[in-house]
Amino acid sequence: MSLIVQKFGGTSVANPERIKAVADKVAKYKSQGHDIIVVVSAMSGETNKLVSLTQEMMTQPDPREYDIVVSSGEQVTSGLTALALINLGIKAKSYAGHQIKILTDDAYTKARILSIDNKKINTDLEQGYVIVVAGFQGVDKNGDITTLGRGGSDTTAVAIAAALKADECQIYTDVDGIYTTDPRLVPEARKLKSITFEEMLELASLGSKVLQTRSVECAGKFKVKLRVLSSFEAAGEGTIITFEEDEKMENPIISGIAFNRDEAEVNILGVPDKPGIAYQILGPVADANIDVDMIIQNIGTDGATDFTFTVHKRDLKKTLDILNSKVKDHVGAKEVLSDDKIAKLSLVGVGMKSHAGVASKMFRTLSEEAINISTISTSEIKISVILEEKSLDDAVKALHKAFELDKNITI
Ligand code: ADP
Ligand code: ASP
Ligand code: MG
Repeated sequence: MSLIVQKFGGTSVANPERIKAVADKVAKYKSQGHDIIVVVSAMSGETNKLVSLTQEMMTQPDPREYDIVVSSGEQVTSGLTALALINLGIKAKSYAGHQIKILTDDAYTKARILSIDNKKINTDLEQGYVIVVAGFQGVDKNGDITTLGRGGSDTTAVAIAAALKADECQIYTDVDGIYTTDPRLVPEARKLKSITFEEMLELASLGSKVLQTRSVECAGKFKVKLRVLSSFEAAGEGTIITFEEDEKMENPIISGIAFNRDEAEVNILGVPDKPGIAYQILGPVADANIDVDMIIQNIGTDGATDFTFTVHKRDLKKTLDILNSKVKDHVGAKEVLSDDKIAKLSLVGVGMKSHAGVASKMFRTLSEEAINISTISTSEIKISVILEEKSLDDAVKALHKAFELDKNITI
């Protein structure tokens, strides 16, 4: 008998029929003698609807009130899922985040989980209940409701699995595992039987929204056995996230392609090339709680340089306001430019560590497609480029083909 955490995403609980299907699946595991904790998202589209409602009240919604509104979708599905289970004759209880003290910091809209009180859950499990937890939400030390960032139900599930020392955390979604790239864009994408934690962390943080990045971080920190699988199929192994590179005898050079259409690029031109300049530019941006992603400082000529970085599109206006009011004249920059019609594409693979030539093959492929690259950044296991948003689909397809990701090639 095992303790299993099963998380069901938005499309898996999209309507009453889907919720009943989730209850059937949970009932099957329960009847095999497992203890089950279910984590649910809001019905698909519901969180977007709630976000829009907050924006109708206020262009930049107050974060505390935003969290109260957008967290409500999960409360509905958790109760409905418990009802569907009870209707099948299964003892079930639903809990909102604050009821099982999913304690977070007070960074509304992107709070981090600090601890989970497992006493109540353990008592319920001992009494044979299936526990259904509303994902995406927590409570801060003042008792205020917080949310964990978009896609945050994944993190609720992994954090509960870590706190309760579950045997496995299963993320049920609308695809049957992790693919070499988003199968909705590239139908030839291949499902991976396993992927290393390191690669999954890169793919998630570079835009593959199949798992929230923090859920992968949390799985890594607490060594949670994490599996992604379909809620629409009866059987299937899905994709398992592994912790040891050696578990796979051979590693493909490239495991996957991630992309992200959510970023915008900011260029500060003619910045005096002197020590401390990066801090003077990025300090005020960080103080405004804006996350900065790629940062590139060009080689200076004639004592001046250009400085480029990317931010989430939603933060672009705020970033430009800060740069124009607090940074441009202060550092003596000539001009601040921006572009929000860009996308970031990244190749990820642990095999890159020991293989040269990946970058040149990538750039050759893109140049053959006449796709222009504006910014490049690399690490041991990834290469990212910024390109025009309109070229993204063609670029992903061309690279997927060039690196033969549809075939099972290993080194
Ligand atoms: P859920 O609502 O279940 O949390 P998400 O929409 O957050 O589901 O995540 C599942 C989606 O992630 C898939 O429908 C797919 O389009 C997308 N996705 C992006 N990259 C990948 C990938 N490499 N493998 C599988 N799915 C991916
Ligand atoms: N419902 C939330 C969202 O849409 C959380 C989640 O689905 O994981 O972002
Ligand atoms: Mg998701």
